[in-house]
Amino acid sequence: MERNNLITEKYRMTFDYHTHTVYSHHNHGKGTIEENVQAAVKAGLSGLAVTDHGPGHRFYGVRREDFPLMRREIDRLKEIYPQLKLYLGVEANIVSGGHCLDVNKEDLRYFDFILGGYHYGIPGGYCIGNWLDAHRAAPKAFGRRLLIKNTDMAVKAVYENDLRILTHPGDKGRFDIGELARACADTDTWMEISTWHAHLTTEEIRICAREDVKFVISSDAHTPDRVGSFEGGLQRALAAGLDIERIVNIEEC
Ligand SMILES: [Zn+2]
Ligand SMILES: [Zn+2]
Repeated sequence: MERNNLITEKYRMTFDYHTHTVYSHHNHGKGTIEENVQAAVKAGLSGLAVTDHGPGHRFYGVRREDFPLMRREIDRLKEIYPQLKLYLGVEANIVSGGHCLDVNKEDLRYFDFILGGYHYGIPGGYCIGNWLDAHRAAPKAFGRRLLIKNTDMAVKAVYENDLRILTHPGDKGRFDIGELARACADTDTWMEISTWHAHLTTEEIRICAREDVKFVISSDAHTPDRVGSFEGGLQRALAAGLDIERIVNIEEC
């Protein structure tokens, strides 16, 4: 993988809180849990979380019957790789109904913590509208209404669930990013600066930084060779003038 030497000489990622494995179905995630673990050890991380897509996703979602298998595999690997803090999470999908996530109370016993993010491919998440809007195939007023609906849905997901991280806020739809930052600040939810996705953008980081919110940079790796990748996210944070102390998993070398 290409590395930005200036950044990697000066900063290091301590913990990668957001990675995918083969449990994200249809060949979406490419590596096994153990391959991600080995990649994390090789990258010199002190911690790793495996966080596959929530079960509501029509294509990529984890099968619920896989939750106990993943838990057992994580617990087995913790014994083999004691130098790494290893956690099992899930990147739950933000949806418009109920408590606005596609995981339920029974599911939670398998996870050390949960992440929440907005994606296409979920029933009940305005995804057809957002897709049309993103591809300029929807009327203008429709886009404005979507901004309100998307923001309401994501804010509710933040307040009604104990999310560790709101993943790639602003991706795949219009959101009032300042409102999301206020909700995250209120609930001590970290806002993700994704290395895989373009969000938070530099401008969005500037808006969010006005609130008393913490940030996390994630690889969102879908292949083991991307585990621990943080340069792209950190470049945007530095461009936004963000105080590095506010990023929970980056430290100066
Ligand atoms: Zn995601
Ligand atoms: Zn992800």
